[in-house]
Amino acid sequence: MSKINVDNITNIVVSGKSGAGKQPRIDVLVEEFGLEQLSTGDIFRSYLGKFNEYRYTGSLENFWNEDENQFISDDEIAKGLGTGDKDVILGMKAKYFVDKGLFVPDYITNALFESFFAKKDYRGQVLDGYPRTPEQSKFLLKILEKNNSKIDFVLLVDNTDERIIARTVKRRICPKCKKVYHLEYKPPKDGKCVCGAEVIQRFDDTEEKIRSRLNEFQDKALPALNYLKDKGISVVNVPGHLEEFTPENIKNSVMSEVEKLY
Ligand SMILES: [Zn+2]
Repeated sequence: MSKINVDNITNIVVSGKSGAGKQPRIDVLVEEFGLEQLSTGDIFRSYLGKFNEYRYTGSLENFWNEDENQFISDDEIAKGLGTGDKDVILGMKAKYFVDKGLFVPDYITNALFESFFAKKDYRGQVLDGYPRTPEQSKFLLKILEKNNSKIDFVLLVDNTDERIIARTVKRRICPKCKKVYHLEYKPPKDGKCVCGAEVIQRFDDTEEKIRSRLNEFQDKALPALNYLKDKGISVVNVPGHLEEFTPENIKNSVMSEVEKLY
């Protein structure tokens, strides 16, 4: 039996380098504490989806004020779009940057996150991919305080760059059925998936792309984490690499560290 009173856990942040092995640990937290996973990727997909469903056919440039380098007011956007639906407006703002392949600014990511988090009553979530900059950490703490909620702790999944690179460059996927293989641990037979298609390397699984994601963690996500730590939130370190990667070992390695907090 766990010593932790599950009802006392409000929200948990999971952090770690891309490829460190966050998902199996998120699964443990979701299961053990009865939480939901709140991923930034899902939030973006959700709002972009809402905008796409609205089927606006005009140019998004109509909503950007070039001189002031910002969006026109929400009222003006609503008039131009023909709807005051807040989710559609947020989706449009996200799409504006995503379509151009631009880095989405913090104020947009924050607005999307807050809107989605509010639908969950600011509770019961494992935050994944957020906060990713110190600015986002600051914003998160502000909305938690305003809504009488909290982050109980940050779970940091530790892994070395070398191990992540070695693991990721040997990853192969099936372009047809999306099955994931690994040249060492789960080799595809004769370079082919069980469905018959030839497996390929994902375009962002090259060493260069992985190193760039690792640098991003060092430059932004780690300072975001340190910001939370400075504000008194505990950080629980768990190993991303386990000699025996079994569900039982993963669960124990997470829960034994979390229990030390309580
Ligand atoms: Zn396949």
